Amino acid sequence: MKNIIIFGAPGSGKGTYSDMIVEKFGMGHISTGDVLRAEIKNGTELGKIAKGYIDEGQLIPDSLMVDILASTYDRQPKGCGVIFDGFPRTIAQAEALKTMLAERGDDMGLMIELVVEEDVLMARLLNRAIEQGRADDNKETIQKRFDVYRTQTAPLSEWFAKEGIRHTFAWSELKTKEGMIEAIFQTVEQANK
Ligand code: AMP
Repeated sequence: MKNIIIFGAPGSGKGTYSDMIVEKFGMGHISTGDVLRAEIKNGTELGKIAKGYIDEGQLIPDSLMVDILASTYDRQPKGCGVIFDGFPRTIAQAEALKTMLAERGDDMGLMIELVVEEDVLMARLLNRAIEQGRADDNKETIQKRFDVYRTQTAPLSEWFAKEGIRHTFAWSELKTKEGMIEAIFQTVEQANK
C-alpha cells in the first residue's frame, strides 16, 4: 500500500477516517497527537515540553516534531504503508517528511484533504470535549488551534497540490461520514492499482 497523509483542520475527522482506512487496508497509523498525549500521560521529558504547547493550542517546534516522527516511523512494520495523521503541519515538516522518506527509499504516496466548515468543526470539537475530555478541546483553545491551522498549516495544501498528490474531500458536498469514507476508499484503491 502507498503511504497516506491525512490532512485537515482540528475536528475534520482525520483520526476517524484513519481508523477506517486502517481497518479496511491494514496499514500502519502514526497520529502525532496520540504520540504526544501518550508522552504526557507517561510523564516523560518530551511530554512535559509538549504539554505547554498543546494546552496553548500551539504547535510543537518543527525540529522536535521531525525527530519524533522519524523515530516513530522507523518502529512501524515495513511494506504495508503508513497513514500520517496530524503530520506534517508546516511546510518545514512537509519538506522534512519528503526527505526522510526518500532517504528510506519510500515516498509520500497520496494526500487526503478533509475540508469542513469552521462552524461544523467547532460543534464537533465541543462535543468531543464532552465525550473524550481532551484538555485542548475547550472553546478558547479550539479558536487558537483554528488560527494556527489557518496561518501555519492550511498553506500546505497548495504545497501538496504542487507535489501532484492532493485529493480533496469536502463535507459540504459529500454530507455524511458514509459519503466521505466511500469516496476516500475509492481514491485509495485507485491509487494502489
Ligand atoms: P491533534 O491530536 O493532531 O489535534 O494534535 C493535538 C496537538 O498536538 C496540536 O494542537 C499540537 O499542539 C500538537 N501536535 C500534533 N501534531 C503536531 C505536529 N505535526 N506539529 C506540531 N504540533 C503538533
